[in-house]
Amino acid sequence: MNNADIDWKTLPFGYVPTDCNLRCTYRDGKWGEIEVSTSTTIDIHIAATALHYGQEAFEGLKAFRGVDGKIRIFRLEANAERMRQSAEGILMEPVPEHIFREMCIRAVKLNERFVPPYGSGASLYIRPLEIGVTARVGVKPADEYTFIVLVTPVGPYFKGGFKCTNYCITRKYDRVAPCGTGRWKIGGNYAASLAAGEHAHEMGYSAVLYLDPKEKLYLDECGPANFIAIKDGKYITPKSDSILPSITNRSLMQIARDMGLEVEQRHIPVEELAECSEAAAVGTAAVASPVGRIDDLDNGVQYVISKDGKPGPIVTELYNRLNAIRLGEAPDTYGWNTIID
Ligand SMILES: *Cc1c(COP(=O)(O)O)cnc(C)c1O
Repeated sequence: MNNADIDWKTLPFGYVPTDCNLRCTYRDGKWGEIEVSTSTTIDIHIAATALHYGQEAFEGLKAFRGVDGKIRIFRLEANAERMRQSAEGILMEPVPEHIFREMCIRAVKLNERFVPPYGSGASLYIRPLEIGVTARVGVKPADEYTFIVLVTPVGPYFKGGFKCTNYCITRKYDRVAPCGTGRWKIGGNYAASLAAGEHAHEMGYSAVLYLDPKEKLYLDECGPANFIAIKDGKYITPKSDSILPSITNRSLMQIARDMGLEVEQRHIPVEELAECSEAAAVGTAAVASPVGRIDDLDNGVQYVISKDGKPGPIVTELYNRLNAIRLGEAPDTYGWNTIID
């Protein structure tokens, strides 16, 4: 099969089989050899800590075919560092940066024919994950860990064009606890958010815009994406210990400063939404998904962010600029891309 056999533009965010994935196991106090596998399954003990006590952390990053034909992985080091923090947060052995790097790069190279062509809007999604594999019945961290890197091509996020969607606020659900695990990218946080997410989808919303779990006064994040807004020409985004530090958000904050915008990372009271002229959910999947309206379901208040229902100029510019860097169309001033050769 070659590239032409996939319809890149209609490809969903799903799992498409690729040629191989990579694995590495930590055992007897050290990381072993990197193995290339053509199997899509793993064989682990039925009492593994990952299965019983949620010892699992993951990452999500993308590789793109650039305007010059070269393949680029966006912010590989930042994802390696966050994976280390997530692992430490749930007492797993952190994956050394050189192993994370090598496995991501090799997984992309070995599956090069699945990297979508430049201009398709599609990309190769890289999903590293770490699991505790020691058999335990008592609650205790594992001694052995398996680190896996799988890749799969994903289609453009905005199939019907870059447009606004709506979000809801509800105080009936929390994703994480105030001093809990929200700042780590772990499967457990996602299990905890499934019911709220499904509830929001059933009502036609893209996701729940969570409030801080302690006081429920401030904005936290939008399901699996950070929240940003534009107020009086400033880029504002929540400061909170219960949100995942998004690498897309961090990149957009830099781009916003380069555009001459002031950036404020601080508590954002819910009511301040009434004063925002633009907003977006930001993350690797979409870069920036513009917000149309936010409905507070507990009191019937509707915050109309986009008056004409269209993405605003600043969010659009942020989106375009970050995309241009990932695709090699604009200078990579901060060294965010790893070029694969
Ligand atoms: C992955 C993730 C994000 C987005 O992070 P990026 O590094 O920008 O992809 C935001 N919130 C949560 C809860 C996440 O898991």
